[in-house]
Amino acid sequence: MKILKFGGTSVGSVKNLNIIKDILVSDQEDKIVVCSAMSGVTNQLVSLVDNIRFNDTDAITRNLHQLEKKHIDVIDELIEDQEVRNTLKDGVSSIITEMFEISSQKYSEIIESRIITFGETLLTYIFSNFLNSIQVSNILLDAKEFMYVDSVENPNINNVSQKLKAVLDSNSKSSIYITQGFVCKDKLGQITTLKRGGSDYTATIIGAALDASEVQIWTDIDGLHNNDPRYVENTQPIAHLTYNEAAELAYFGAKILHPQTVSPIIGKDIPVLLKNTFDPEATGTVISDRTHQEGLKAISAKDGITAIKIKSNRMLMAHGYLRRIFEVFDKYHTSIDMITTSEIAISLTIDNVKNLDDIVKEIEEYAEVTIEQNHSIICVVGESVIKDKNSYKLFEILNYIPVRMVSYGGSNNNISILVDTKDKISTLKFLNEKLFQNRIEAVV
Ligand code: ADP
Ligand code: ASP
Ligand code: MG
Repeated sequence: MKILKFGGTSVGSVKNLNIIKDILVSDQEDKIVVCSAMSGVTNQLVSLVDNIRFNDTDAITRNLHQLEKKHIDVIDELIEDQEVRNTLKDGVSSIITEMFEISSQKYSEIIESRIITFGETLLTYIFSNFLNSIQVSNILLDAKEFMYVDSVENPNINNVSQKLKAVLDSNSKSSIYITQGFVCKDKLGQITTLKRGGSDYTATIIGAALDASEVQIWTDIDGLHNNDPRYVENTQPIAHLTYNEAAELAYFGAKILHPQTVSPIIGKDIPVLLKNTFDPEATGTVISDRTHQEGLKAISAKDGITAIKIKSNRMLMAHGYLRRIFEVFDKYHTSIDMITTSEIAISLTIDNVKNLDDIVKEIEEYAEVTIEQNHSIICVVGESVIKDKNSYKLFEILNYIPVRMVSYGGSNNNISILVDTKDKISTLKFLNEKLFQNRIEAVV
């Protein structure tokens, strides 16, 4: 069994849905196909949630009519058979009616989570029925029946596995199953999501749950590039990455992968292939436990970072002091990404400021706290990157851009610097030139 995931752009138009159909029929192996919402739809649902929050009924109506039209237009263009077309339009209209009903309720986090899952619901309903109408027989699985994810950071794969196998057993046998990415249920059984971009994570959770032969993530680019192609020109796809490298890059901002994509399959020997829907022949990237080459592989950037400086004249480095600080972050479920220390101060970074006020209040009881927002972590990644003979050039950045923090040696595979987000693009470009052009070839 293979798992194939198609992202927002890949399912974003009638033309592209036909390309996916060709990809599916070109491979005979049994598969589970995980689909995102059409591109732009989840963003529109996020704005619908705002309309609900402000109880703006006109905007809710406008928004839902637009979504209905978008999906009905797809059906009109995609489906030849008139009877099937009408049935599907009725189906979409009843999903929209359900959304109207939910949107009329008072805003709550539960309503928010439910609403933003509907993009995947609409798209998979249309796509599965489209395939069946052209004799590409498949079964639509409702992810809410098996994707029980008690903790997004640490899902219980056995639980998903049991539920998914039961769902597969209760359906008739098919070589293609279609399901929604992103959507799951939490430990209370409420509908929720795996966070933005979460369909990648759905695919690897399912891959791990079924011990799949491989997971393929189909997107709009030919694999993971050595720098962020949105900001840097002439980036290159990387043919092979280890799980560790991919996990670091995804966690530190490479948007092509949801931050947690790799974690469910580490130790399972399930390769993850990153493939381009619009150029299926392109090599793409294979992520596995094999190290093909050591040394620098790629650079990524993670925004929305807050630096916290904790300064105290008393006892900072004394036994137990750091534990006291970390316990505060632990208490407020806030994880720390980077840390540097001096004799009188410690600086650390977080990406989740939900409980920042409470954290600061507690620490201020015994230390002086300074907050700096709008920072980015720039991460240089590769197995044994610190031994790469080119790595020293990274530090030439200090001549040009104010660097707030440096993390070197925490692992062999990652060197990180913290810069103001306004300097992010120039940092990425500078590092691209220094580290990838005129490389010293004997790396490690
Ligand atoms: P999908 O909708 O298929 O999930 P995403 O937009 O989430 O696609 O991810 C693909 C995009 O990620 C690419 O179009 C590219 O702009 C962006 N991206 C950012 N960093 C990288 C990188 N290092 N390599 C490849 N793509 C990247
Ligand atoms: N549709 C969701 C999003 O836009 C999930 C995904 O595309 O992976 O975030
Ligand atoms: Mg994505």
